[in-house]
Amino acid sequence: KKRVFSGVQPSGSLTLGNYLGAIRNFVTLQHEADCFFCVVDLHALTVPQDPVALKENIKNTARIFVAAGIDPEISTIFVQSQVPAHSELSWLLECHTYIGELRRMTQFKDKAKKHEVVTTGLMTYPVLMAADILLYNTDLVPVGEDQKQHLELTRDLALRINNRFGEEVFKVPEPYIPPRSQGGRIMSLTDPAEKMSKSSPNPKSYIALLDSPDVIKKKIMSAVTDSEAAIRYDEENKPAVSNLMVIYSLCSGKSIAEITAQYEGCGYGQFKKDLAELVVETLRPLQQKVAELSAPGAIESILEAGAAKARAAAAPQLQRFQEKLGLR
Ligand code: ATP
Ligand code: MG
Repeated sequence: KKRVFSGVQPSGSLTLGNYLGAIRNFVTLQHEADCFFCVVDLHALTVPQDPVALKENIKNTARIFVAAGIDPEISTIFVQSQVPAHSELSWLLECHTYIGELRRMTQFKDKAKKHEVVTTGLMTYPVLMAADILLYNTDLVPVGEDQKQHLELTRDLALRINNRFGEEVFKVPEPYIPPRSQGGRIMSLTDPAEKMSKSSPNPKSYIALLDSPDVIKKKIMSAVTDSEAAIRYDEENKPAVSNLMVIYSLCSGKSIAEITAQYEGCGYGQFKKDLAELVVETLRPLQQKVAELSAPGAIESILEAGAAKARAAAAPQLQRFQEKLGLR
């Protein structure tokens, strides 16, 4: 069986972008691979977090994993900070990473611009992500398009270390990234040039998976479009409308061509109304399950069991690399 690893940061309320770009694929992959899905709380600390909100976001992220259909009996669901090997391997990998490589990362450049103070953690974030992945001998990493560059760094690090020791110390993982028309990059509702992000200061830019039906409707009805008033797919010239069509397609199971035909001669108003309804209905069962999983102890016991499995899976890989380096 192939090994799959992926993580989501508890840096806010998870969005439709997180679901369509990543979590949806976690659910399908779990039936063919041995999967580890991680709430990467240490990554969230790269930018300021309120401790009380963080604690709640950690649990909600895990609840959404399960509510979306990840089965804790099949997949391992855990919280990164409960498995110290992630931090330990991260340091060892940092000592094999060049500063220039990290400075070039577009996510670092983007996020650094948005914060007054830039921590070292924001810059070394991709190394911790490499540690997350390499610790589990991962074959496949399902992520959104924005993580492509970080995955390339992970591969470079594995290859560099394997080269240094003349043997396969780390498995070189493959990315699993959907094309844009399949949710690989869901765009912001207020600026179609930017990806939808849960840490955006403007809640109108994203649909949170736990938004109420009313809020979802308002956000979709006020999403930016363009002045052409035609529903057709054109990423280049009609990025906002194309983005809404991708969301429509993935929530309805209809192809882009079917949607184009269905809405020929129709205005944006009706299209948006239908889309809002679709999104509300798509999220309704997920929201219901999240509510059930909010019973005291429900998610905690899943995470305890997951952490034990993850600690056991991670230990041999860390030890092997430590020995290679002359430690232990
Ligand atoms: P943050 O703004 O804090 O970075 P985020 O919304 O980018 O939050 P992450 O936790 O960084 O979410 O990413 C979790 C997963 O969701 C990753 O696999 C990432 O590639 C994917 N993802 C994030 N945003 C999108 C998006 N707009 N479209 C598709 N996939 C996305
Ligand atoms: Mg992100």
